[in-house]
Amino acid sequence: MTNKHFRKSPNRREFIKGVSLALGTTALGLPLLSMSSCQQGSSDATVQQEQREGANGSSRKKLGVALVGLGGYSTGQLAPALQETENCYLAGIVTGTPSKAETWKQKYNIPDQNIYNYENFDQIKDNPAIDVVYVVLPNAMHAEYTIRAAKAGKHVISEKPMATSVEDCQRMIDACNENNVTLSIGYRLHYEPYNQRVMELGQQKVFGAVRKIESGNSFVVGNPDIWRLDKELAGGGPLMDMGIYCVQGACYTTGESPVSITARFGKVTKPDFFDEVEETIFWQMEFPGGAMADCRSSYNASESYLSGEAENGWWKLNPAYAYGGLQGETSEGRMDFPHVNQQARQLDGQAQSIMENKASIVPGEMGMRDVKILMAIYEAAKSGQKVPLTW
Ligand code: NAD
Repeated sequence: MTNKHFRKSPNRREFIKGVSLALGTTALGLPLLSMSSCQQGSSDATVQQEQREGANGSSRKKLGVALVGLGGYSTGQLAPALQETENCYLAGIVTGTPSKAETWKQKYNIPDQNIYNYENFDQIKDNPAIDVVYVVLPNAMHAEYTIRAAKAGKHVISEKPMATSVEDCQRMIDACNENNVTLSIGYRLHYEPYNQRVMELGQQKVFGAVRKIESGNSFVVGNPDIWRLDKELAGGGPLMDMGIYCVQGACYTTGESPVSITARFGKVTKPDFFDEVEETIFWQMEFPGGAMADCRSSYNASESYLSGEAENGWWKLNPAYAYGGLQGETSEGRMDFPHVNQQARQLDGQAQSIMENKASIVPGEMGMRDVKILMAIYEAAKSGQKVPLTW
């Protein structure tokens, strides 16, 4: 990806404006963390040092996270979650919009030297206050910013889908490996109790081998002028954005990757919205253990479910993929798990694995596997043929 993504698209869609800036830190060496306060003015330094050490006075250091792209998800979920996390905190931002930089600076006590824009982003390499760069930009921009962050020596979290091509995923993985930093995907549901229970039920064969999985994840798009409907920035339609949760759900139910795909596109009922990406898509995935998954995703429906049938029992979550309010039951009764801040759990889990030098449970390789599946689903829908997958 290049900076072309920051320029206004010449086509009809009035796009999002700028982006900005960021912060930075060096890789992970925890001893470096204490240096951050030396770079700040005294009151900022005090605030940041308190954040680093935890409000409860705990001596454990927190990793500094810089959010890249201050859109809906960063604003509504990630920044609030970073106020609750134990192992990391919001240390910096990267935005192309100066007014957002000012608002965030005030709201979250972010020191000036931890605020970057897309042009000076690479200077984040000299900022020891930033340990982790979290890329929360339109899908096609994940690769560029992940690679730049890796070259700056920062650990990276990339939002889903990891990228818009398998080749970009590989470049991201290579860049992180070459620079000795970790790469994780923003797969929050791996840290969420209802979905964790589904993983257990399926993978541990609590009700015997899984036979069938059904999943749908959709929402109604009401505005045609968003990057999610722009093929170049989004890589595709609801499949890339929402259907990826169904792919994930089926894979973490079985603990397997599918060996073949069939698919078809749904009808286009709003051609003025869906002239570049699909409106609705249906697909089936066959798993090596014999399970079949029947899935769908649309930008013209509202649904969020994941169900499984095994030899001796069943389960279902509905909603399955929302930020909260999940509900579930099994053939033995209602599930009753705590409702958690998913993003806080995810960020704490990812920070912990970095601090303990352990592998991420949602690594870049998983993100790349999923993008390979998404591409196979599109290939199957376009060709009408069953598409085999080898791993
Ligand atoms: P958004 O449209 O609300 O925000 C996108 C941000 O990117 C904005 O701040 C915008 O200014 C910036 N940007 C920079 N260059 C841009 C360009 N050329 N065109 C458009 N925007 C540009 O989107 P969002 O909902 O915050 O999604 C961002 C990423 O986060 C996506 O990859 C999405 O899939 C992912 N996401 C994940 C979850 C989750 O639950 N894990 C939820 C929502 C979004």
